[in-house]
Amino acid sequence: MISENRDAAELGIKVLKFGGSSLADAEQFRKVKSIIESDPARRYVVPSAPGKRFSGDDKVTDLLYECYSISVSGGEIDSAFEKIIERYNDIVASLGVDLDLSDEYVHIKWSIMHHAGRDYAASRGEYLNGKILAAFIGYDFIDPAAFIKFRDDGVFDAEMTNTLLSAELKHHERAVIPGFYGSMPNGTIKTFSRGGSDITGSIVARAVVAEIYENWTDVDGFLMADPRIVPHPKVIETITYRELRELSYMGAGVLHEDATFPVRLAGIPINIRNTNNPDARGTMIVPITDKYDPKTVITGIAGKKGFSVIAIEKDMMNSETGFGRKVLEAIEKEGVSFEHLPSGIDTMSVILNTAEIAESRERIINRICSTVEPDTVAVEDGLAIIAVVGRGMIKAKGTAFKVLKAVSEADINIKMIDQGSSELNIIIAVDENDFNRALVAIYNEFVG
Ligand code: ASP
Repeated sequence: MISENRDAAELGIKVLKFGGSSLADAEQFRKVKSIIESDPARRYVVPSAPGKRFSGDDKVTDLLYECYSISVSGGEIDSAFEKIIERYNDIVASLGVDLDLSDEYVHIKWSIMHHAGRDYAASRGEYLNGKILAAFIGYDFIDPAAFIKFRDDGVFDAEMTNTLLSAELKHHERAVIPGFYGSMPNGTIKTFSRGGSDITGSIVARAVVAEIYENWTDVDGFLMADPRIVPHPKVIETITYRELRELSYMGAGVLHEDATFPVRLAGIPINIRNTNNPDARGTMIVPITDKYDPKTVITGIAGKKGFSVIAIEKDMMNSETGFGRKVLEAIEKEGVSFEHLPSGIDTMSVILNTAEIAESRERIINRICSTVEPDTVAVEDGLAIIAVVGRGMIKAKGTAFKVLKAVSEADINIKMIDQGSSELNIIIAVDENDFNRALVAIYNEFVG
């Protein structure tokens, strides 16, 4: 019990989420324990299920999904379930924790075989890991099924959850709350989408009005660019939620997309940290800051291949009221959303995701032709989009110039340029074949 009823924020509470690789085996559990114990403010801990110990290894969540599929197709889950038991027993035995999970195994296996549901099966990875971690570090165990709530339509109920969870956590000085799942109004278990323990960590941080939400993973933080393309990119020290959204949308991912919402609402920063290198400061994700590194100006670069452009030309287009609306309506009617809309006086280009128009492209073109009667309309595939993101652009002059210079010096043709009025990013499109070279050229231009 918390002895005094002080404001949680005053106590400087830290909430920690550990990802699957941080809890993949006993050695990782020991690192996690020493991280938690090195700071008394680290009071609430959200574990994932054990992840891969080496490349090619199984994630426990995947094994649980496999058990579920075997069981619904009427098969025997014995050998698949045995692998799961082995993983946990190994951790318990190597840690020397006084914990017997055999009744839990029997119950879980029986429930999976008796149709407790896919989400129930998957959630047991976090549940069991939470039991072990709580016993190992001596924290209370809290089952999120009673406090993390989804509505009947399956949507997460943020307010009800916050009320229930913050009331409950007031009774626990220190606790482990498994990630990834909660429950439906009828009590059945429901999970978030894959990687959802990030969301649970954020929900817990909001519920206790944490000073910080530490998200412990296996990298030193967000990198300025994809390391598979740019060798040894720098770690981003500070990024705002909005910048993160821009970069994640363009394919840079470490954190679940929905994980920022609960903490963002409460103005709580997230710190991405590395369990295998706890001395590194990681990346701070903050609601706002105008500080930026004047040397680099930009925060990060991300991009994706697989875009198409529909280029439409019509003489006197600019004086035809409703032209743009009709074009977009033609696309909307096929259930496709557009990515960018660079336009000239008598030309309009719509950039779309190629996969999304795979079977509707003919119909889209026909609709455009019949509603706006263009002079020409053509579709070009094979585009890559690159977003250069940075809050520093608002103040620094010449950022767009530097992007264009870098790309043109690399002898790459730019097919589209778009800078939003927020001046948070500059977006360019290049041929897919030039994608990697363009990213490297831009990175080198700004970071060197
Ligand atoms: N264990 C779940 C998954 O593999 C959730 C998580 O790790 O965040 O997706």
